[in-house]
Amino acid sequence: MKKIYVTKTSLPKIEDYIEKIETIWDTHQMTNNGRIHMALEQELKEYLKVDNLTLFTNGHLALYTAIKSLNLEKGGEVITTPFTFASTTNAIVENGLIPVFCDIDPLTYTIDVNKIESLITDKTCAILPVHVYGNICDVIKLEEIANKYNLKIIYDAAHVFGVKYKGNSIFNYGDISMTSFHATKVFNTIEGGALFYKDARLYERFNALKNFGIDSNGEILEESINAKMNEFQAAMGLCNLKNIDETIEKRKKVYLRYMEKLKGVQGVKLNKIQKDIESNYAYFPILFNEQKFGKTRDEIYTMLADKNIFARKYFYPLVSDYAFYRDKYNSDETPIAQDIAKNILCLPLYPDLSLDIVDVICNIILGE
Ligand SMILES: *Cc1c(COP(=O)(O)O)cnc(C)c1O
Repeated sequence: MKKIYVTKTSLPKIEDYIEKIETIWDTHQMTNNGRIHMALEQELKEYLKVDNLTLFTNGHLALYTAIKSLNLEKGGEVITTPFTFASTTNAIVENGLIPVFCDIDPLTYTIDVNKIESLITDKTCAILPVHVYGNICDVIKLEEIANKYNLKIIYDAAHVFGVKYKGNSIFNYGDISMTSFHATKVFNTIEGGALFYKDARLYERFNALKNFGIDSNGEILEESINAKMNEFQAAMGLCNLKNIDETIEKRKKVYLRYMEKLKGVQGVKLNKIQKDIESNYAYFPILFNEQKFGKTRDEIYTMLADKNIFARKYFYPLVSDYAFYRDKYNSDETPIAQDIAKNILCLPLYPDLSLDIVDVICNIILGE
């Protein structure tokens, strides 16, 4: 069988992309907030129904910049989770701040809001929760905690493009949300990312912060990086945005087929769509209970790989178990995250994945 990976990048028709980039040969403008970039900003605002948005060359630099914009005192503590991609934690550390790991909720895989308050100290300055797999954090309770202790909230919203909570874009929660438009995500601009935020004044600031700190008067008021999205990325975004509803609809079909084949299986936990949520079907995580299922996650991974199907142990290991963090943290302190990282597997899920392949994958898992 042909190799099947956990995801496959969504590409538009090549003619559509060429049409979008052709104007670059007239204008010779390839970057620096060009016409295509501005058009993507506008179309994303309309599609997502958000007020404030700034594009970046990738999600990580957007997240880094979001934290930087809060001017938090160096050495301050940021409460976050280890069940995430390394980007989340690295962005905290790169800002001279200290990540403090909170355990996760076993149903949604997002931060356990009941365990946050016991981690708050007089050094705590922000909370950086992660929406995971298309599931959302308890945004209401998080807002309560943040208000009570006067803390900022930045969401790592890399997994939740298009997700709505009670009809409202999930990007509208927190002081700032970051999302990623990396090639492997539900919506891509090749590489790319964006920030969404409450305070409209941040628009000018973010435009400066992603351009060496140069503001609209050509002055530099603070040092900064270069993280601008270029016109070729933005053009890919415009093309992919046109197809996004169809993309998510196709993902849903794959999701439903997996659910149909795997639900009720002893020793297997599937990810249910939360109440009041419109999902984007970003990932299909399946959690194995070795005692009840009879096989480990790693055994299932290998059985699939032997048939050219490459699922992903995502997120594994926990960020706190990577060499750079291992000496500073003890992952025993987040036992639920530790247990889930050991037993979870993300199955292939992308718009064009055929339902026949889904059946093959399920049959391998079920030993049929
Ligand atoms: C993809 C991802 C990022 C980083 O985004 P890039 O666009 O790849 O820089 C950060 N956090 C999470 C949870 C991600 O999945």
